[in-house]
Amino acid sequence: MKVSVDRSVCQNHGQCAIAAPEVFDIADDGELVYEPEPSDEFEADVEDAADVCPVQAILVGSAG
Ligand code: SF4
Repeated sequence: MKVSVDRSVCQNHGQCAIAAPEVFDIADDGELVYEPEPSDEFEADVEDAADVCPVQAILVGSAG
């Protein structure tokens, strides 16, 4: 699967890192870092992360 975050709207709240810690993380400098092509096993968590993002910055697509 593919994941992208619109950094023009992301406010580094970290809600996504709580919902899907395997895919999203807030770095020491406070910036969001994420895995753009996570394993499909994390799909449910990533969907949750997209749902909880307060600015709907997370886009989820299928791989390929
Ligand atoms: S929850 Fe949304 S706004 Fe917050 S860090 Fe994640 S992508 Fe950015």
